[in-house]
Amino acid sequence: MAPVTTPPVIVISGPSGAGKSTLLKRLFANYPDSFGFSVSHTTRPPRAGERDGIEYHFVTPDHFTQLIADNKFIEHATFAGKSYGTSIQAVKDVVNKGRACILDIEMEGVKQVKKTDLDAKFLFVAPPSVEELEKRLRGRGTESEDAVQKRLEQAVKELEYSKVDGVHDRVVVNDDFEKAYKELNEWIVGVLHESAAEKN
Ligand code: ADP
Ligand code: 5GP
Repeated sequence: MAPVTTPPVIVISGPSGAGKSTLLKRLFANYPDSFGFSVSHTTRPPRAGERDGIEYHFVTPDHFTQLIADNKFIEHATFAGKSYGTSIQAVKDVVNKGRACILDIEMEGVKQVKKTDLDAKFLFVAPPSVEELEKRLRGRGTESEDAVQKRLEQAVKELEYSKVDGVHDRVVVNDDFEKAYKELNEWIVGVLHESAAEKN
């Protein structure tokens, strides 16, 4: 009898502004039934166009602290002065639909997920350079100057960590968007196929 496996958990990380959300938006539009997004909790305020329960669950710091106390998170971390966390429920909601679950999280979360029994696959989205990253972060127009600085400082740490052997299963440099999307798409579809093959 083949082992019963759940759909794969795929963790995408990379510096803020590298293009993770833009790449994932395309992936979800192309495969609406195959993937689901793990909707994190955060204490940062919503950006224009962000909807509670879709991009994030937007919560107060007190609510976030309570969720930690209640052991609701698989992982959580502070990023640029705000709290972010993946709840157990967020992953369950996706996996229970039979879909591959995609997490978009920063490096402290990546380290924590590696310590769980989730058996996740890890993809890192790198910017072509820190200069280009800064341009994209500013071009997005969502952050204050202080937040841009904090995100750039964190970006250096993320890039350092990404060079540690064996941390990521795949690194995609998001220089030309179409090329980067093609690489991400091929790798993720490969992960889906491997997971399906394990089931049979
Ligand atoms: P992240 O989710 O990693 O923080 P975003 O997806 O929000 O990053 O992308 C940051 C900004 O860079 C956005 O304004 C996006 O439109 C832009 N962007 C994404 N990919 C590219 C690319 N390959 N070339 C130029 N700009 C890009
Ligand atoms: P943003 O504020 O730009 O949406 O996200 C900032 C950073 O937080 C990004 O690197 C994103 O991947 C990360 N992030 C989003 N959700 C989570 C989460 O649930 N856990 C952790 N550890 N990081 C998260």
